Amino acid sequence: MAMHVRPVLAANWKMNNGPTAAAAFLDVFLAKHGACDDRTIILFPPALTLAAVQAGLAGRADIGVGVQNIHAEEKGAYTGESSAAIAVDAGATYVLVGHSERRHVFGETDDETARKCARAVQHGLTAVLCVGEKIEQREASETEAVVLRQLQAGLSALAPDAIRAIIIAYEPVWAIGTGRTATPDDAAAVHRVIRAALCELVGDDGHAIPILYGGSVTPANVAALLAADEVDGVLVGGASLDPLGWAAICAA
Ligand code: PEP
Repeated sequence: MAMHVRPVLAANWKMNNGPTAAAAFLDVFLAKHGACDDRTIILFPPALTLAAVQAGLAGRADIGVGVQNIHAEEKGAYTGESSAAIAVDAGATYVLVGHSERRHVFGETDDETARKCARAVQHGLTAVLCVGEKIEQREASETEAVVLRQLQAGLSALAPDAIRAIIIAYEPVWAIGTGRTATPDDAAAVHRVIRAALCELVGDDGHAIPILYGGSVTPANVAALLAADEVDGVLVGGASLDPLGWAAICAA
């Protein structure tokens, strides 16, 4: 069943852009990118930059903001961490969960992604659950198994209505920050597998859940990726740091 999903363009700034750099970014980006209501644009700045981004976005309710991570626990003695409640209080409405750098640099497990998704939902945050295989898994033909395992685990603690409100990002680890992008056909093949799994969980409503592609997306390749079957948007790291490049991606 084909269904039109409103495109989602999301920028993951990772550990780049402090408050000063973010304000300068927004000056350029907002001058280039006028408000539009046919797509969802989300910025994921570092947590300490969230307030500066919100100040810079004043009057631009068309652009959402999120955090790159939350802790799975409600609160407590977790020095250096931020909870879902703190993220909401600070103005975030979205959260990345299970980004490949969280999984492979910080050792985040499938169980933690499940608990983080549940905590996000409990606090009204829209979770963007990231899944994706490593190069050796792709070469061993394990892509589908890895992606399905991460997807099913990440969603395992959610009721069907919460699953309906989630966003998925397929980000092959070998494509993140490497300049090596999945072809539109490769992305579509994995997105179809994810779509089928979502429909198994929530029926036809699974067609309305945005599935984003991430991994070395640029202004030059974004249109072809967005045109691929079942690709409803993009999650962009490096290319989202250039305000004019990001404006070009948002206009794709
Ligand atoms: C990311 O960080 O989610 C990402 C896709 O990075 P990049 O666009 O730099 O590959």
